[in-house]
Amino acid sequence: MYKTKKIRIGNIYIGGGEPVRVQSMTKTKTLNWRSTINQIKKLENIGCEIIRVAVPNMSSAKVLSKIKKNTKIPLVADIHFNWQLAVEAINQGVDKIRINPGNIGSRENIEKIVLAAKERKIPIRIGVNAGSLKILKKSDGWIRMSPKDRANQMVKELIENIKILEDMNFSDIVVSLKANDVPTTILANQIFCKKRNYPIHLGITEAGTEFSGVIKSTSAFGILLNQGIGDTLRVSLSAIPDEEVKAGWEILRALGLRRRGIEIISCPTCGRCETDLIKIVHQLEKKLLATRRSPIDAPLKVAIMGCIVNGPGEAKDADIGIAGGKGFGLLFKNGNPVRKIPQNKWVNEIMREIKNVQKKI
Ligand code: SF4
Repeated sequence: MYKTKKIRIGNIYIGGGEPVRVQSMTKTKTLNWRSTINQIKKLENIGCEIIRVAVPNMSSAKVLSKIKKNTKIPLVADIHFNWQLAVEAINQGVDKIRINPGNIGSRENIEKIVLAAKERKIPIRIGVNAGSLKILKKSDGWIRMSPKDRANQMVKELIENIKILEDMNFSDIVVSLKANDVPTTILANQIFCKKRNYPIHLGITEAGTEFSGVIKSTSAFGILLNQGIGDTLRVSLSAIPDEEVKAGWEILRALGLRRRGIEIISCPTCGRCETDLIKIVHQLEKKLLATRRSPIDAPLKVAIMGCIVNGPGEAKDADIGIAGGKGFGLLFKNGNPVRKIPQNKWVNEIMREIKNVQKKI
């Protein structure tokens, strides 16, 4: 377990043993502040804990205070190329700045951002992406590197950037080392955490769609988080940001790092299954997602199992469970059998039981 420095971002902390935070990024035009606020509010409702917005120009920077005033979770401004945008975002009241020093320009430009952040006591995330390494930009073309060499180079460039901030006695730093491939991302983060104790934002750049992107992110985050590396994460997906938040929570839950909302345990079905279990599980999941209470409510394990082979065991182990039989299922609550339920009533009965438990919490 790597103990990192605890950093405050708005009304929450990351690092230093705090829970791994789930974050996302809006996909609206930030300048369109009304739709950006709406998207953030929706994400707040499903458990997003930190939100980042792109700030591509000065008019977008100028609406950040409106967005900040109308949302609850910490607001992070994502800045590239232009130090003036970062300073304006800080003046507008954002809770954190994310920069890639590699494209901000001179050391003096970075120093101007650091001074402004220091004055307002907000942290800076320094993000180094494999695709924008300085060493890659050669006049005669791009250099191809092995994951190990690339990871080492990412860490080297990150530490050079950190030193600029440290030279100014600024240590409210969060870092990220992202690549679009899993081996480089894992190696870079493993190498970095042995050198510095700043909290780490985990991410895979350009991860892909809901399917491939979730698999890539889970592969990298699973290994790193299991080694105690990573203080906040974003599952970047070519999808609506809701999917990023849901995937983030699912990863943390699967690793046993955080429990929140309803976890469905269901069997894959096989030739022994006597019910239309796959359809039932999807119906239940759809209903749970439609209720705004999930997945941000108290944690509950709900098992839906196809037959008596593993059914009773898993159903007993869950808070609420059904072990399937021919056309019916045996409902378990807190490990005890309660009653038989016909197959067509499983979803409604489970929803009713969930609501009963949640009322008591
Ligand atoms: Fe098959 Fe029963 Fe196992 Fe489900 S619980 S996969 S139906 S053996």
